[in-house]
Amino acid sequence: MYANRINSLPPYLFAAIDRARTEAIRKGVDVINLSIGDPDMPTPPHIVEAMKKSIHDPARHRYPSYEGMLSFRTEAARWYKKTMNIDLNPEDEVLTLIGSKEGLAHIPLAFLNPDDISLVPDPAYPVYNIGSILADGKPFRMPLLSENDFLPDLEAIPADVAKEAKLMFLNYPNNPTSATATSGFFEDVVDFANENDILVVHDNAYSEMTYDGYKAPSFLNVSGAKDVGIEVHSLSKTYNMTGWRIGFAVGNRDMIAGLGKVKTNVDSGAFEAVQEAGIAALSGPQDCVREMNRIYKERRDALLMGLKELGLEVKPPRATFYVWAHVSGESQDFAKMLLEKAGIVATPGIGFGESGEGYIRFALTQPVGRINEAVDRMRKLDI
Ligand SMILES: *Cc1c(COP(=O)(O)O)cnc(C)c1O
Repeated sequence: MYANRINSLPPYLFAAIDRARTEAIRKGVDVINLSIGDPDMPTPPHIVEAMKKSIHDPARHRYPSYEGMLSFRTEAARWYKKTMNIDLNPEDEVLTLIGSKEGLAHIPLAFLNPDDISLVPDPAYPVYNIGSILADGKPFRMPLLSENDFLPDLEAIPADVAKEAKLMFLNYPNNPTSATATSGFFEDVVDFANENDILVVHDNAYSEMTYDGYKAPSFLNVSGAKDVGIEVHSLSKTYNMTGWRIGFAVGNRDMIAGLGKVKTNVDSGAFEAVQEAGIAALSGPQDCVREMNRIYKERRDALLMGLKELGLEVKPPRATFYVWAHVSGESQDFAKMLLEKAGIVATPGIGFGESGEGYIRFALTQPVGRINEAVDRMRKLDI
């Protein structure tokens, strides 16, 4: 019944964990869910109010423009100037997305011909790999290893693969490893892209979720980056807006146009009331972002202290709301044991790709009291 591209999708490895979690809840286990990368706190009230106001305006009830409201794109450009010091033309260097996942999934359709190679990190947010497969492309996985600070080793990519590759996906601050990248690394990427004629897509969903004074660089800050790539951004994590579906892509105007062409023919743009809420988020007071980071940092420190006591090897993350812990044995067995013996749900690293094996991802999306409770339960385990 299904097309080959559907049949060739990798198995959904989280399904087994989901089933086990549902089963545990049914049995009455007090489950602590540290598996989902979805902010647990509500969207800040001034953003909700902007939506409320907008939704009463009949002009917002019509089809939106394909590329997004110019007012939203202008605000996104202003936000990039303010936070990253990057100049963007809202007319042709910014595109509104229905959540960044939508844009990431559609990018390969715009740039890959059948069997073209896309370079995809491993472990990674699944959509880079899946989107490439859905476009009949051939993902080549770049291992993110601890000894390379979870950055891909560009020199380890075989020359023939690099020459054939059309696209490269990157994501720093990184999900799931929480690793960060320096501008120096992005400079190497621009050189590599120029040498091999590769288009770069940098997913910067976690640029604002940082700690300890760390400031995440934009890929576009590097000289020549706009000639070879785009950056995809999301309001989901920064403003607790995962359910709203709003993000944007910025950078190289030909790439923006290519992605726009796919979108014009597939969707009809983001609900304008949501874009107006997005404008309120990007232009409004940013205390909510600082407050969220303060809360995540408190949770991070609580979990890190617990994991350290347990003897698990963890590098304190400077960004994202994930803790990527090295565990003994297979990650799926470890996750199963955590759930069965402690009622804790965490994500086995193998779910993000082969090189994620041996790691567990904890998401800091529970109140600090629950995280302390999780640590107490882990302490009683013999890990
Ligand atoms: C959560 C997340 C996103 C955001 O997706 P949206 O579709 O904008 O909600 C993008 N990339 C990564 C790596 C993520 O973890």
